[in-house]
Amino acid sequence: MSSITFINALLVDKPGSTYTVVVSNGHVTSISPSTPTSTEGEVVDLESKRYLGPSLVDAHTHFTAWTLNRTRVDLSKATSAKDAVQMMKDAAAKEGGDSTAPLVGRDFRVGKWPDIGDMTKENLDTVAPGRPVALIAGDLHSIWLSSAALHFVGVDPLGESGVLLEKASFDAIGVLNDLREEALFPLIQASAKAAAARGVTQIVDLEMKHNIPNWISRVAKGFDTLRVDVGMYTEHLDDAMSRGLKSGDEVPGGEGLLTVGPYKIITDGSLGARTAFCCDPYPGTKDHGLWIYPNTELASMLAFGTSHSFKLAVHAIGDEANSRTLAAFAALDPPPLPGSSIEHAQMLLPSDFSTFGKLGLIASIQPEHLLDDIELADRFWEGRTSRAFPYRSLIDGGAKIRMGSDCPVAPLEPWGAMAAGVSRERQGEEGLGGWHPEQALSHREAYEGSTWSGRASIEVGDVADLCVTNGDPLAASAKELRAMVVVGTLLEGRWTHREGI
Ligand SMILES: [Zn+2]
Ligand SMILES: [Zn+2]
Repeated sequence: MSSITFINALLVDKPGSTYTVVVSNGHVTSISPSTPTSTEGEVVDLESKRYLGPSLVDAHTHFTAWTLNRTRVDLSKATSAKDAVQMMKDAAAKEGGDSTAPLVGRDFRVGKWPDIGDMTKENLDTVAPGRPVALIAGDLHSIWLSSAALHFVGVDPLGESGVLLEKASFDAIGVLNDLREEALFPLIQASAKAAAARGVTQIVDLEMKHNIPNWISRVAKGFDTLRVDVGMYTEHLDDAMSRGLKSGDEVPGGEGLLTVGPYKIITDGSLGARTAFCCDPYPGTKDHGLWIYPNTELASMLAFGTSHSFKLAVHAIGDEANSRTLAAFAALDPPPLPGSSIEHAQMLLPSDFSTFGKLGLIASIQPEHLLDDIELADRFWEGRTSRAFPYRSLIDGGAKIRMGSDCPVAPLEPWGAMAAGVSRERQGEEGLGGWHPEQALSHREAYEGSTWSGRASIEVGDVADLCVTNGDPLAASAKELRAMVVVGTLLEGRWTHREGI
């Protein structure tokens, strides 16, 4: 295997000197403050201005959904139906060529559109004649389709206005999302490259479909950009067990890149849909949100997963959902496997701040959500927001945190997540103080919660999953974190991204 010698490297968390770092056989084999007298293999000069640190993990992704989203036109800023049509026309023109594949827009919100009467199939027929054009609403409950797109999703355009609602909308979205693996593969490759370009070498994939066979086939086709921890839901456990697999095992055929991830269980809904399960009712209602399984059923799911050696990753957003989930974890005998987590942990009772630490559970957090949800939290959790997204309280209570995006809910953008975690300020509002800044993470906590090793520094003997940046992750401002330039990413000593060095 080839070797790489980094010279004049600044090392994250090792200030005061420049270093020579040798990577060979996929590992960091030496770190020394001196200039080498002789070098083997490739020499990369970091010019005393670039930082070498461990590469990053996104601990919560829906990778296929994010991949599809990346191919779709972002309509979240469209202010009218006319505006949305123009954005689709611009996208079609930019794409050029003579593709007949559906052209899909996403995340439009009609709340303030003055011209919803113009949401007709005829108006979309003008975007890219002959090509199916489909616009999916931000909440997925409606979809606006051209005549060709109506045909594509199996609806006769005759007598249809072009807008489908509720179940008809979900069904149409299902057809658009149902790309075959052959069509999906080049898109997956491109989104993995985009992740590598942000310093990411590993994802936890919590895609709702059964992913072990899909990822094996992708690796067989040449996918080698990321390590993937393949998560599973209840209906996938039988297949995993029949393959003799448990969490942490290498997936056969995965070329060392695929690992069996956690067993994912969803216990409540979301804040935006007012289905997060809360101790207090939603303002003006008697509704506490959605609790999906009776407590006893949740307990037996956790016990089943644990006794079959699966780590658990349990989605809980509201304080009541978190409290009941923690109680179920506490009652587990044998206890949950190390690495088990609560996903989101967005709203907590003060009495639960220290429970994560006591049970050895990871709080798997997605700080971009807190910025997206400020208005929702102020409205639906009014008077309780001091314990919403309570990162400081969790860490002070002994919890270990891991950071993620939950892409496509937020983009796969670990530096944005770090910026959100340390500042709780929106992009463009830096320096204004942020939302409940007393709950912010330190830079070290945010970075260590994002690296594969859980450390800020690299050490001799580490697997050479590394990231080269133009700035110091432990010292950059929130604004600088968001704009962090990653000039190189290595996976086991192999470049998966390289630009400008
Ligand atoms: Zn979730
Ligand atoms: Zn998710």
